[in-house]
Amino acid sequence: MELFNLKDHAQKVSFSEAVIKGIGHDQGLFFPDRIEPFSNDEIAMLLKLPLVPRSQRILRHLIGDELPELEDIVADAFTFPAPLEPVTENTYCLQLFCGPTLAFKDFGARFLARVLGAVRGGRHLTILTATSGDTGAAVAAAFLDQPGIDVVVLYPKGKISALQEKLIATLGHNVRAVEVDGIFDECQDLVKRAFDDEEFRTRIGLNSANSINIARLLAQVTYYFEAAAQLTEQQRDHLVFSVPCGNFGDLTAGLIAKALGLKSRFVIACNANDTVPRYLESGRWDPHETIPTLSNAMDISRPNNWPRVEALVKMQGWSLKDFDCGTLGDERTEQSMREVYAKSGKVIEPHAAIAWKILEQHLKRGETGVFLGTAHPAKFKQAVDRILGTDIALPEALAQRAALPSHATEMKPDYETLKAFVLKELGL
Ligand SMILES: *Cc1c(COP(=O)(O)O)cnc(C)c1O
Repeated sequence: MELFNLKDHAQKVSFSEAVIKGIGHDQGLFFPDRIEPFSNDEIAMLLKLPLVPRSQRILRHLIGDELPELEDIVADAFTFPAPLEPVTENTYCLQLFCGPTLAFKDFGARFLARVLGAVRGGRHLTILTATSGDTGAAVAAAFLDQPGIDVVVLYPKGKISALQEKLIATLGHNVRAVEVDGIFDECQDLVKRAFDDEEFRTRIGLNSANSINIARLLAQVTYYFEAAAQLTEQQRDHLVFSVPCGNFGDLTAGLIAKALGLKSRFVIACNANDTVPRYLESGRWDPHETIPTLSNAMDISRPNNWPRVEALVKMQGWSLKDFDCGTLGDERTEQSMREVYAKSGKVIEPHAAIAWKILEQHLKRGETGVFLGTAHPAKFKQAVDRILGTDIALPEALAQRAALPSHATEMKPDYETLKAFVLKELGL
């Protein structure tokens, strides 16, 4: 697999190099220079396979000859299912929250941790990642006790759920939690600064495990096929995915699945942080200040994967006009949760509720809609119980974590402070 830097087309790297580097010159994202589609027969064959063997083939096809351990890595990373749950007539929830931290990010983070373990070749690595909630939890869990790798997770203080914080700040060992007095974008800017700091970067073997890293995105491609595999052939022919978007990694992965030959169209679902829907409407890229919402993993006004979406759309000869998109504020997100609960008795959390509503608004007759259930409702228990009048149970693993004390370091959004902290923690 060859990838190029979206900001400097002359920089070309292999998959392993892209994974190790994370990001290219000028903070440019790596992207495959071409995506070879499967034939219709190959797609039909793939859809008959179980999740793990199918995912091994998809990833082998994308990645090519590199990484002889790939098949073992996939089997070791994807140890939980992604069931498709019927919700209302013609809509299904793809439940991506059956992994250890109960969010879809377990797929990408577990795959990345193992790929990095395979390609680091004796080098010590430091994972520095900014999270608006679930990424940090998934990354921390995926890298916990991975030999030769240290992890520093930054999150905006008070802006992630209590449970998300517990999942990050109770692990200890090689995982450090840093709560930043600021918003997610400031955390993300600190990470970007660190990547620009050549000397620091080399010294600590810096790597990002957020959705900038191509390994995470590729892992996520596989569950779009898993959704299709659970539908009938007839449903599959008119398939629509609705993706609740924050950094637009999940959407990028879905579009890669489409480029590989999975027949589908896509609906972009956003909360009040609506930079992309406004851009698609007006053609102007005009991020506003980030607004805190119920669906906090989507509280992002400068989505870092958007250049990949544009690159792929261009590469495939698609048009941005082909996307339906919509935004939902908190009040209507709550209504959407209540509506699903009343219609089906199913409890969904705010991110999925946005995806469901925007899907419902754009689903045409004869189409089958799949919205991504990106997090387990129990991760947002407080909000869910308040909105639905329920008292949902915490899964056992979460209940145990919630009872442990957190150990986080508080910090101003200041780069020099962060740098000093990391060096001290690593004993450098
Ligand atoms: C991360 C996340 C999203 C947004 O995914 P992106 O790939 O950043 O667009 C949506 N919902 C939940 C629960 C998440 O954790």
